[in-house]
Amino acid sequence: MTVLKPSYLRVRRRAEEALQNLTQPPVDVMAVAARLGAEVRPFDLSADVSGILYREGDRRVIVVNQHHSVVRQRFTIAHEIGHLALHKGEAVHVDEKFPIYFRDGRSTTAENVLEIEANAFAANLLMPADWLRADLDSMRIDFSDDEALVRLADRYQVSTQAMALRLASLALI
Ligand SMILES: [Zn+2]
Repeated sequence: MTVLKPSYLRVRRRAEEALQNLTQPPVDVMAVAARLGAEVRPFDLSADVSGILYREGDRRVIVVNQHHSVVRQRFTIAHEIGHLALHKGEAVHVDEKFPIYFRDGRSTTAENVLEIEANAFAANLLMPADWLRADLDSMRIDFSDDEALVRLADRYQVSTQAMALRLASLALI
């Protein structure tokens, strides 16, 4: 069986391109989506669906579950932007609850690789490595204090789980 691997370098470059002139958190995911020509529409989706990406001709629509928390909606939007920026896709892509994998996932299916890449893109877009390193330098964050992680997650408008995984994947925690 072929082992497929996500292309993390390409993911990081695409996320950096998508950030353009943005220089501080929280990243305005709506503005990034708009620049890529995508409309974002919160919608009454069933609980197990996080988001849907539609592509039809020049039209791109990201539908996000309006019942999810703001930080989760932001992650979903960033994930769908990742599919747009990275993957030529099918007309309709439905994302059910995705486990957040940032670590080097080895996968045997092409579909999993796409999901891992979209999640890695979301992490790079919402929590750029350079910004985090600068914050950790200037804020002198002490992670033995539980509130420190909460404050950092709040600053980037991401979940504490996403922030903890991101810091771990960058070996910053
Ligand atoms: Zn996806």
